[in-house]
Amino acid sequence: MGKSIAIDGPAGAGKSTIAKMVAKDLGYIYVDTGAMYRAMALYLIRQGIDRDDTAGIEKACEDADISIEYENGQQVVLLMGENVNAYLRTEEVGNMASASSANAKVREKLVDLQKKLASSKDVVMDGRDIGTVVLPDSRCKIYLTASSAVRAKRRYDELTEKGITSDIKQIEADIIERDNRDMSRENSPLKQAEDAVLIDSSDMTIDEVKNAILAKAKERL
Ligand code: C5P
Repeated sequence: MGKSIAIDGPAGAGKSTIAKMVAKDLGYIYVDTGAMYRAMALYLIRQGIDRDDTAGIEKACEDADISIEYENGQQVVLLMGENVNAYLRTEEVGNMASASSANAKVREKLVDLQKKLASSKDVVMDGRDIGTVVLPDSRCKIYLTASSAVRAKRRYDELTEKGITSDIKQIEADIIERDNRDMSRENSPLKQAEDAVLIDSSDMTIDEVKNAILAKAKERL
């Protein structure tokens, strides 16, 4: 096993932004596990499989070939050999990922891939079950959260910056719904690991959060 930092938390807490910065600072590899669930979801959408079709999802899980590569330090997700990074961040894919990630077969397949990645490299890995299931022995676990209002505002600003009009109340409602689903599912629900450090970033800048995690890493690794 390499060294690892496990970062879990709800959608929009800033996990990926922070994890990327921490990884760069330490010279570790950043592993975005959400992108893997999104790639699986993209496969289901492309195959026309319904989110409630458990048998269809489990069959697709056997057929879908998902792998990870690194290009200039950036994670590239390959679906059937195709670089699908550009298709993963849409709401449609996110919603399908949130539904299909509750399936035990989907989780088994992707957790396996995640464990393999962490076995040979030093990683900063973010997701929902990293500290609890994927890297339970990690010595540096972070649970990063923020209020739903703050997370909605950040997402709203991000969209506005891209010139996309959106409804902040709707964004907050979607965030709350996704959190509920991630926290209440039977398989690997989102929860803070007992030995994780809680960071609420509602009133913190990105640099403050980054420095708090780097300090923890220094102390624990
Ligand atoms: O983090 P991101 O929004 O990219 O994740 C998409 C969805 O994938 C989440 O809503 C969650 O349901 C699922 N996921 C998961 N376990 C992980 C990472 C993501 O269940 N480790």
